[in-house]
Amino acid sequence: MRYEGMVYRPPSEARSLIIQLTIGCARNTCTFCSMYKEKQFRVRRLQEVVEDLQEAKAYYGPHVRRIFLADGDALVVKTQDLLYILGEIYRIFPRVQRVTSYGAPLDVLGKSREELESLHRAGLDMVYIGAESGDDRILAAVKKQATAAQIEEACLRLKEAGIQVSVTLISGLGGPERMREHAVESARLISRIKPEYVSILTLMLEPGTQLYEDYRAGRFQLLGPEEVAEEMRLFLSHVDSEGSVFRSNHASNYISLGGTLNEDRDSMLRQIERAMRQRQYKPEGFRGL
Ligand code: SF4
Repeated sequence: MRYEGMVYRPPSEARSLIIQLTIGCARNTCTFCSMYKEKQFRVRRLQEVVEDLQEAKAYYGPHVRRIFLADGDALVVKTQDLLYILGEIYRIFPRVQRVTSYGAPLDVLGKSREELESLHRAGLDMVYIGAESGDDRILAAVKKQATAAQIEEACLRLKEAGIQVSVTLISGLGGPERMREHAVESARLISRIKPEYVSILTLMLEPGTQLYEDYRAGRFQLLGPEEVAEEMRLFLSHVDSEGSVFRSNHASNYISLGGTLNEDRDSMLRQIERAMRQRQYKPEGFRGL
């Protein structure tokens, strides 16, 4: 496989075969994100992608069960090309059980209901949506290029087409000033979507990003662990998303939480309150992205 540059995938795709369908991110504007800053976006030639699949089969045998289509937003690719690649995936790996990708909200909205249904029928099982926040002011400030309403609509369209949705939020993204709005509006957004999966990372700033520069210049403040815990407590107190699998156990998180909403909400809230009382947070040196 000819991987180009650093390749990223969601934590839950750790055991998946990663195939780059695109290089970089077609938007690449988010002020907190350093993932694809070095890459000039392009869709790879489909033949190259198929050659990678064949090479992976020669290397791993037919035993691949999960495939993640990288890089930033595979759904920007034309539907007919996506259908072709999905067809090749299931032809080359007939025992594959799950194919997933990242998806930018506006790229999802650029596809019709019929197109999304055809992608589901062709074997696209789940799309990871980086919502980041449910608060429009934060989304505009970080240049997400999508409003909460657009994120909601994109997720609901995917679900209606039978494609599972995994939504990611970033704790601390509004700084101390919009901590409450970030928590409550994100909880409302998730409650309206009721995605299959929700995960919350905690903001860590990386050199080379606009937000890092804003922090260095005093235009943006990071939350401390107590504030992140309070933000999470607010989020969980307001969310109503029966059946969503909730994870906040990423290396960046100060408190590791996991459960199913809404049934495990109270026990996770108790866990947060205990950590706040005992000031038991992951030390900074153990955090990572
Ligand atoms: S967060 Fe997602 S949409 Fe934004 S620049 Fe990074 S990869 Fe692109």
